[in-house]
This record gives sequence, C-alpha cells and structure tokens, in this order.
Amino acid sequence: MSERIKEHCGLYGVFGHPQASELTYLGLYALQHRGQESAGIVSADNHRLHARAGNGLVADVFHDHGVFSRLQGTSAVGHVRYSTAGDSSNRNIQPFVVTTKDGPLAVAHNGNLTNAESLHQELSAEGAIFQTSSDTELIVHLVARSQAETLSERIREALERLEGAFSLLFLSPTGLIAARDTHGFRPLVVGKKGESVMVASETCAFDLTGTTFVRDIEPGEIFEVDSGGQKSLRFGKPKLCQCVFELIYFTRPDSYIWGDPVDRSRRRFGRRLAEEAPAKADIVISVPDSSNTAALGYAHASGIPYEIGLIRNHYIGRTFINPSPFMRTFNTRIKYNTVAEVLEGQRVVLVEDSIVRGTTLKKLVGLLRRAGVREIHVRVSSPPIGHPCFYGMDFPTKKELIAAWNSEEEIRNFLQVDSLRYLSLDGLLQCVPGKAADFCTACFSGNYPVPIPPGEGRALLEETGEAWAQGELERLLSGLT
Ligand code: SF4
Repeated sequence: MSERIKEHCGLYGVFGHPQASELTYLGLYALQHRGQESAGIVSADNHRLHARAGNGLVADVFHDHGVFSRLQGTSAVGHVRYSTAGDSSNRNIQPFVVTTKDGPLAVAHNGNLTNAESLHQELSAEGAIFQTSSDTELIVHLVARSQAETLSERIREALERLEGAFSLLFLSPTGLIAARDTHGFRPLVVGKKGESVMVASETCAFDLTGTTFVRDIEPGEIFEVDSGGQKSLRFGKPKLCQCVFELIYFTRPDSYIWGDPVDRSRRRFGRRLAEEAPAKADIVISVPDSSNTAALGYAHASGIPYEIGLIRNHYIGRTFINPSPFMRTFNTRIKYNTVAEVLEGQRVVLVEDSIVRGTTLKKLVGLLRRAGVREIHVRVSSPPIGHPCFYGMDFPTKKELIAAWNSEEEIRNFLQVDSLRYLSLDGLLQCVPGKAADFCTACFSGNYPVPIPPGEGRALLEETGEAWAQGELERLLSGLT
C-alpha cells in the first residue's frame, strides 16, 4: 500500500447564492494559511457539477477570472490543501468529484483517519480500486457502497465507520452537506449571508465574504441544506476533543473558534507564560507572525516593551522554498530579517508559539546574534511537543521531534540561548476557552484520545531517539546561514 497522505486543510462551502463560486474563491483566500499546496472549487447548478482545481496558491489556480463564468450554479464547495507526506500529485487535489448511483458528488476533507489502512485493506479486498493515496477516497467508497435511502443517510452510514479526525463538505447538484467527527478535532462553522448558507473552517473567511457567524457544526453532526431547508442528523457518540494546537498556532488570530476569539486565547497563553517563566530583559519580540499575539500577552503581563525585531517576508511562494541545495542554504534569510536598530545591545525575550524540530529557531537565534543582541531568552507559548499527531497536523515523525529526545537544558544548549522555558501543560489548559477536558493534547501528553491501531502508524510511536544520537541533528542543520 502506498504511503497515506497527511493533510491539513481549509474548507469553504456556499448554498443558495448567485455568486457561489466567487464567494468560495474569496473564502479560500482567507483560508490560505491552512494550505498552500493546492486549491479547488466545485460548483453545482441543480443538474451538474463544475470543477476547477490545481496545484499552487488560490490566486494562481484561479488567475483566469473567466473561470467563474464556467463554475456555474448557486452552490459550491472549495478546498485548500497542505500535505506533508505521501503522494502530493494532482490526483490528490480536492475537492474530489465522483459518480454515484444518484449522480455526481463532490467531497472535500480536512483531517486524518486513524483507521485508514484497515479500511483500505477491507475495501480493496472487496474489489474497490483507488486512484489516490488520500483518506478522502475511502470516505467516497463507503458512501457509494451504502444501501441507505437518502444521500445524508448514506453519508451517516459511511461516517459511522471512520475513526480519527474529519471535517467534511459534500456537494451534490442540489444540496450541501457538512459533517464533523465525533471528537470535533478540527473546526467547522456555519454562517448566514442573507438567505444563503455558508460553511467554513474558520470565521475569518466569513469576515471576508460578509457572512454572519451562526454556530459551530457540532461533533457527530451531519448538517444538510437544500431547497427544502436545513436539517441535522447525528452519528456516533460525541466526545469533544478539539485540537488545542489550532489555538496555539494554526488558526488565524482574527477567527473565532469554539466560542472564543483565537486572539484572546493566544494573549492568555502569553500572559500565563510571563507568570510561569519571567525573564530579565529589555524587549519582547516574537517569531512572526504566528507568535505575535502570545508575545503581546507576554509583554503586557511582564511590563517589558514589545518591539518588532524580526521581519517576515510574506511573498515567498512554495516554488522558492526548496529550489536547490545552494538556494536552500538561504531559506531562513529569505523568510526572516532582523531590525538591527531595535536589537543591538539588547537583552531579548524571543516568544515562539511552539518548537518542532528546533532547526528554524536555531537559525533565527544565529540571525539575532549577528544583529548584536546581548542575551536571548526563548519563551515558548506551548509545552514541549514530544509525540506525533495522527489527527491531521503536519508534525514530522517522532524521531525528528526535538523534545521527544532532549531535555529542556539540552534544547537550550542546542539553540545556544541564554535561557529557555515552555508554557506548562496545566498552564495551557487553564487558558483554553471552555473545559480543559474538551481538548486534545496528545502531542504534548502522549494521551491519544482515539487509539492508534497496530499498523496505523503505531510504528511511528515506537521510533527511538537513535537518529538524534547518530547525528540526525547535523543533517537537519546542514546549510545553516
Ligand atoms: S495531537 Fe496535537 S496537533 Fe494533533 S490533534 Fe491533538 S492537539 Fe492537535
């Protein structure tokens, strides 16, 4: 079996609007941070589906604005994709369009299934032929095989078989269906624009399309809208377990998810970090952009002024990221530069939202040293990541996670900084909106809310730290500038 693709994505859906495909395009634009590898839109005109998708950013895939006259109809679904493992060829670009006994059906998926391998084996043994290495195709096969009477009931039957993380959009010629797994790992929200219904991964997409937020799709809910109105079906036993990493890093700070502005959560993380891990310093700076809000929280709570000491270049397309080994040595310099006037001679608190491999942060520390900073105190607004994610976040495998194999002091030494402190897991959970028990923290705690069955990546959990001992670090760091 080919390696299954790991995906973290953004979804946008429209029902009942004359500019459905254009609104979906705008929605995807706002969700671009959730995936830059490919983008796609499928529209529905009551009889047929119309599709356009390709590799690259939303603006690149839809650069020909004439495309919207071909994406006809009053309903649409869109998808942006970030994939880090498995086959990232054109075949895996979403939304997928398939032919079922009721006609065409488009599907867009955000998340990762933990029982994908066993479902793949079972369906293959029954004669199913797969075109892609994406979990989404498994869902399509299950829906197509169901004997239930209506499409939403066939979807319910299929979703009952799935384990892991999935937020989904389905589009038929006449209706839009949205669903969220029983743990609610990934966000999915419903909004209203006049009489039209919108669904999105995050509310920042609603802001751009002039849509009013109505509510979250609930865990274990299948939400259906067609010309007959709206209705909801339920599947499985809901047990809320939202991905806390969405709050720490992935979701945009101008979004509301799970009943709270993300900005507010991130400021709380920063404030709490300042209480748990104070530092004697002259300025607080962030690793832009995802750490900006936590750094503000740290600065407010500590009374140390917030300054902008690192500048991020936002105009780097994916094609510039790894063009050649020589160019790769400039990766960090292309993305970040220092403001020497702000940094020279200063004792700096550098706030970072998380440390995965630690290699980018080490390179940034080198840049700061060259800009003349006197001391660097790294403060991380999340706990150490010591465990891989099986629910759709694009972390590397365990062997590359620096905190899986190194103590805080060893990581400090590796980074060559004056001090390093992380936010505690208790501290993090005291800052989340709602109940701590409603969040997944498996990448920090190792407590996986959905068990990883044997063969479903369990080997990744059993990886050792040998790679670190054998110089993996040097390999990862080769080409430091
Ligand atoms: S393991 Fe971490 S990244 Fe993955 S869903 Fe849980 S909290 Fe999110």
